[in-house]
Amino acid sequence: MLQQTQVKTVIPYFVKFTRTFKNLNSLSNSSEKKVLKLWEGLGYYRRARNLLITSKILINKYNSKLPKDINEIKTLPGVGEYTANVLAALIHNKATIAIDGNVKRLFTRILNKSENEIDFQKFINTNKKNLLNTNRNSDVVEALMEFGALICKPKEPCCSICPIKKNCKFEKSEKKLILTKKNLINEELNVFCYLNKNGKIALTKKNKVGFLNKFNLPQIEKKLESKRSFKKWKLLKKYRNSISNKKLNINLYYQFSKRIPVDYNWYSIKNNNEFIPSFTKKIFRQVSTLFQ
Ligand code: SF4
Repeated sequence: MLQQTQVKTVIPYFVKFTRTFKNLNSLSNSSEKKVLKLWEGLGYYRRARNLLITSKILINKYNSKLPKDINEIKTLPGVGEYTANVLAALIHNKATIAIDGNVKRLFTRILNKSENEIDFQKFINTNKKNLLNTNRNSDVVEALMEFGALICKPKEPCCSICPIKKNCKFEKSEKKLILTKKNLINEELNVFCYLNKNGKIALTKKNKVGFLNKFNLPQIEKKLESKRSFKKWKLLKKYRNSISNKKLNINLYYQFSKRIPVDYNWYSIKNNNEFIPSFTKKIFRQVSTLFQ
């Protein structure tokens, strides 16, 4: 369903489809008319027909199981190199990598080469021992795709929080400077830190500005609240911080407080085992001056 189609478009179709056909048997026993009706509006109807034919082949020829051999998977209707590798890794935990746009971008950046300079399959085969040195091949194949989509993004790679930046040649290169300069956005952020006398800071993984979402951050606002509530806050420092494609002008405020908003938790500024992004670590350094 996801071929040429966005996830948000696919979701309602997927839900309806899997509720109607709860298993391979019920799909294979269905009529083409019924399958196409459920697909109505999604387009590329050959995918629906292929799915129906494949369900019948799997039942009749493969005892309702997906074949293990990648070349055999590729003989199924509508299944090409990429889909066959994804299926082999996800279903049979095969040590293989499916090469899509996200994976290509990640490898081109790690090697700091252009796409036409790399033979991706050869690169994977040569480095198989390092890349697939795990029993969790299905997780690796998914993680690589997600990594390219969420961290090593086309225009705004999140290098500051990237766990493999030490091994990435692009990160230290001119190319990155050009990419980041081209997309640099100036932004002002007001950062509000609740502190307590025990050297702790209140952080949340649910910040409203959609910035470094799901990571530990203090309260952040793009615009200041009304003057009345703002009175409680003291300005500690103004400084600059660049992150991905953003050049941030930070106004850092603090207040000592026993009460913190819902969704916030206390974290030690000096010792904690949580993953703290470097954006927040810089804030730690600023507020720790208040405890000296
Ligand atoms: S350091 Fe940056 S460019 Fe390199 S892999 Fe990580 S996110 Fe991608």
